[in-house]
Amino acid sequence: MTADETHETGVGRFTLDTRLTGALGGRTAQALERAFGYRTVGDLLGHYPRRYALRGELTALASLPLDENVTIVAEVLEVRERSMRSRRGSILEVKISDGTGILVLTFFNQAWRARELVPGARGIFAGKVGDYRGARQLAHPDYELFDDAAAVSPTDASVKRWAEAPIAIYPATGALASWQLAKAIALLLDGLDPVPDPVPGEIRSGRGLLAHRDAIERIHRPEAEADWKAARRTLRFTEALVLQTTLLLRRAELRSHEATARHPSAGGLLERFDAALPFTLTGDQVEVGTAIATDLAEPVPMNRLVQGEVGSGKTVVALRAMLAVADSGGQAALLAPTEVLAAQHLRSIARMLGPDLSAELVPTLLTGQLPAAERRKALLRAAAGQSRIVVGTHALIGESVSFADLGLVVVDEQHRFGVEQREALRLKGRRPPHVLVLTATPIPRTVAMTVFGDLDVSTIRELPAGRAGIESHVVPLVERPAWRTRVWERLAEEIAEGRQGFVVCPAIEPRVAEEADPVQGDGATDVDADPTSAPVASVAAILAELTAHPRFSGIRVAPLHGRMASEEKDATMRAFAAGEIDVLVATTVIEVGVDVPNASVMVVTDADRFGVSQLHQLRGRVGRGGLPGLCLLVTASEPGSLARQRVEAVAATLDGFELAQVDLELRQEGDVLGATQSGGRSSLKLLRVARDGEIIADAREAAASLLVDDPRLAGHPALSAEVRRRLDDDATGFLSKG
Ligand code: ADP
Ligand code: MG
Repeated sequence: MTADETHETGVGRFTLDTRLTGALGGRTAQALERAFGYRTVGDLLGHYPRRYALRGELTALASLPLDENVTIVAEVLEVRERSMRSRRGSILEVKISDGTGILVLTFFNQAWRARELVPGARGIFAGKVGDYRGARQLAHPDYELFDDAAAVSPTDASVKRWAEAPIAIYPATGALASWQLAKAIALLLDGLDPVPDPVPGEIRSGRGLLAHRDAIERIHRPEAEADWKAARRTLRFTEALVLQTTLLLRRAELRSHEATARHPSAGGLLERFDAALPFTLTGDQVEVGTAIATDLAEPVPMNRLVQGEVGSGKTVVALRAMLAVADSGGQAALLAPTEVLAAQHLRSIARMLGPDLSAELVPTLLTGQLPAAERRKALLRAAAGQSRIVVGTHALIGESVSFADLGLVVVDEQHRFGVEQREALRLKGRRPPHVLVLTATPIPRTVAMTVFGDLDVSTIRELPAGRAGIESHVVPLVERPAWRTRVWERLAEEIAEGRQGFVVCPAIEPRVAEEADPVQGDGATDVDADPTSAPVASVAAILAELTAHPRFSGIRVAPLHGRMASEEKDATMRAFAAGEIDVLVATTVIEVGVDVPNASVMVVTDADRFGVSQLHQLRGRVGRGGLPGLCLLVTASEPGSLARQRVEAVAATLDGFELAQVDLELRQEGDVLGATQSGGRSSLKLLRVARDGEIIADAREAAASLLVDDPRLAGHPALSAEVRRRLDDDATGFLSKG
């Protein structure tokens, strides 16, 4: 891909918003759009090098991964032409080496290439690594030879500089090799008009950052290592500043609407509830409760995230907020990620309220799987305002659901609900309701700042007194295969003591995993599209195994998973809570919120199949009553593997915040940011949440003080334009046009 031949190149002047079709020609632009979704000059200039190679640097050919697109710097050793045996034509075989290994390039019927690919020639080669009779090869690779310095005296200073200039290596595809991208980018850089600086001068100079245009130039065409390093530092901060400005503007936008202020009334519902509470609130519960009460009392919509460990008492905090809203005549809706959890929330709310308050508030379940008559009744209660607490799943967002006066939306487990769904529910109030988001996944500060930067965040760290603790152990089957039997014995022993337990499996049936997707109603999906992946433990197989196990005769074992009908799941959970079932063999349906104080053992099979936070949450299902919990993490992962490290990290600590940090470091960045902010054109490029905490915090402060003086960015058009690029068009109304 070079610029189309018919297209005159290098003569145009471009801005960041120039279409690539205009700048590079249609064919090239199309290839770029197909490969990366790029449309503008700014998009392509934001395609930063993945790394930099030196012309003298020899990459390890020995470790080339099969079937991957690679770019390597190497030297031609030997060239051989031979004719093919079975059909007409010739093959040119070119051996190249980097000193660590040898790779063969093959070209069919292109003998002329022998004229330039002479022994001693050096260059960059790119292609997909194949295997031919046990030897690695690139068939028809793209390449670019260094028009080498060999002829020139190496003492010449300009040659030396050339030889030392880092070569930008770009993320490439099969269709677009690294240097082809480099060429297109160079063309854009040559024709680029002056670029206004999104980072205001005073912020830039205080931090020793480069001008924007300079940073773009140096990240793509560095003359020395120091160039791209300074450029990265600048662009990283720029990214953080744009992101934080965007989030703070979004927060300001949310707060620009008018909401109904809600006050608890003297001698009202909240006071009666507090008076009847069988325990004292923890210090953190009180503190968070006060923050929420202050938010609710303002005529501005609350947007608050409350994070706290499983069992830290978030539900009580949320319920108290609902009561404050009910005191002023409003309704509250609680969104749970699954039907099971919605039903459980309703039960525990009814229990906490007691019969009198329940009769007044009429807590009502409204889910997609209710029988038609019940659903109609629930809809009426919500619409008439009779029910002041409506608990449900995503069905609450359905168009047929309306509220008389929706004052508060509580979302349990934010990470399972999309921003759009929160939005849709928000629109159900006459005015935007207050929004409270609960999450049991502890969120490291910088992630909170990045992903939830438009929310206010409160933390409950303190657990209610009287928790007996949880013992966690890894059961490493690779080293200790015999321990598997011991796991079932240990489980049986606990049951014999009158306790209950869970066995969690990654799949429902052999070869069918449960990809818990609550929005789709716990849909189960086929996992084993990849036939090489090892079989995973399944609910069906473990259930059969336990049922047949001599130690389990007389022990009541039942399954629970997302393929069961909702009434069946609910009945099973109820029976388990009532002690009529001893062991639940389940998928992650039980991950969040399920609360059975008598449950003391959690066995997780194939624990390495779960994420760190997920394991931590699963473990939180036991040790909730006064009983000490036991968590056995069974894994067939290799010692030392990343999978094993995750499981071991969970066993090593009960501190959710520590685990969240581990998770962050072990996980892919995309997962941390969630679907809305990873991938696509607005994704983070250079910024890494796990590593760049200081930059993010610094940028947030800078953004905040900038917005104090200039809330609509009227005086900062370049920053405003960058923010606009990040936001959906309809969300930019609050920015000055500039
Ligand atoms: P979370 O929603 O954070 O997982 P819950 O609100 O469900 O936690 O509380 C877990 C259990 O602890 C519940 O049975 C609840 O009644 C109880 N609980 C909550 N707060 C306290 C407290 N301050 N003291 C004692 N028990 C509490
Ligand atoms: Mg809860």
